[in-house]
Amino acid sequence: MSTLPISYDDVVAAHERIRGVAHRTPVLTSTTANDLTGAQLFFKCENFQRMGAFKFRGAYNAIAQFTPQQKAGGVITFSSGNHAQAIALSARLLGVKAVIVMPQDAPAVKVEATRGYGGELVFYDRYTEDREALGRRLAAERGLTLIPPYDHPHVMAGQGTAAKELIEDAGPLDLLFVCLGGGGLLSGCATAARALNPDCKVIGVEPEAGNDGQRSLRSGAIVHIDTPKTIADGAQTQHLGEYTFAVIRELVDDIVTVSDAELVDTMKFFASRMKAVVEPTGCLAAAAVLQRKVDVRGKRVGVIVSGGNVDLLRFAELVGYAG
Ligand SMILES: *Cc1c(COP(=O)(O)O)cnc(C)c1O
Repeated sequence: MSTLPISYDDVVAAHERIRGVAHRTPVLTSTTANDLTGAQLFFKCENFQRMGAFKFRGAYNAIAQFTPQQKAGGVITFSSGNHAQAIALSARLLGVKAVIVMPQDAPAVKVEATRGYGGELVFYDRYTEDREALGRRLAAERGLTLIPPYDHPHVMAGQGTAAKELIEDAGPLDLLFVCLGGGGLLSGCATAARALNPDCKVIGVEPEAGNDGQRSLRSGAIVHIDTPKTIADGAQTQHLGEYTFAVIRELVDDIVTVSDAELVDTMKFFASRMKAVVEPTGCLAAAAVLQRKVDVRGKRVGVIVSGGNVDLLRFAELVGYAG
C-alpha cells in the first residue's frame, strides 16, 4: 500500500488546502431514485462546485503546493475541458499566471469561460499539432509548470476530497460509484473510501464507446484506444494514467460502462426530478446505478455527480427539447 502514488494523508492535507475556497457541495437524496433502485442513494453534487465541476479541487490543490519560484513562473495545461477552467480559476485565486493550450475549434463557451477566469489562451490545430508536445515546449521556454488533467498525485489527492466529504456527510456506504475518464477522480475517491470505509466497494463508470479503463483493470495493464465517440466529452480519454492506474488496480473493485442513450436518460432524470443540470460526463456514475448495471438493492450507495458544464442549447438538443 505504501508504494501507491497517493495515501489518505494526502487527501486529508488536500482537504485542508481547499477548505474555505472550494464549496462543500451538497449530498442530495431522491425518493424517486431510491424507489427505482431499491437502494438508498446519496448523490454528491459536484455540478454545484466552483466552476461547475470537481476539477477545481485537484487544480487548486496542485497550484497551492507550488514553490515560490513555480508561483512566479506560472502554470500551464493542455486540457480544453473543465480542467482548463479549474486551472485558470485556481491560478487567479492564488495569484499565479495561467496559460491554457486549447484547440482552435474549442466551443466558444469554454473559450469565454477560461478567458473570464483570467487564463491566457494559446490555440493549436488539433489535426496537425500535438497539444502535449506544444504544452511541454511552452513550459520549458517560458518557465511554466505543467499540471496535467489527471495523472498527477496532487490532482488525484484533491479529487479524493469529494469522496471524503460524501462519506463524512452520508455515513458509511456499501458501494461508491465514480465517473471515470483518465482516473484522477476515481483514484482519489478510492483512496478516501478505502481509508474511511474499508468495506465499501468502489466502482468506476466510463462510456461504453471508451471502455479502456475496464479493459485495463481486467487485463492488469493500461489499454490505449482511439479517442472514443461519446457525448461524455470529459471522459474521451485514450488511456488511464500511470499514477491513476497504480491506485485503481489496487483499490477499485470493478469498472462498468453506460451508453450515450443512458446518459441522456440520466440528464433528463436529474433535470426533471432533482432540478439539477448535469453534463453528460457528470451522469456516468448515476446512469450505472439508475440503469441497474450493478445490483444495489438494499444497499447504501454513494454516487459522484461530477459536473454540470453543458451549454444550454446543447442540453436542450440532447434531451430533445430544442425548438
Ligand atoms: C474530467 C471529468 C471527469 C473524468 O475525470 P478523470 O479524473 O479524468 O477520470 C468526469 N466528469 C467530469 C464532469 C469531468 O470534468
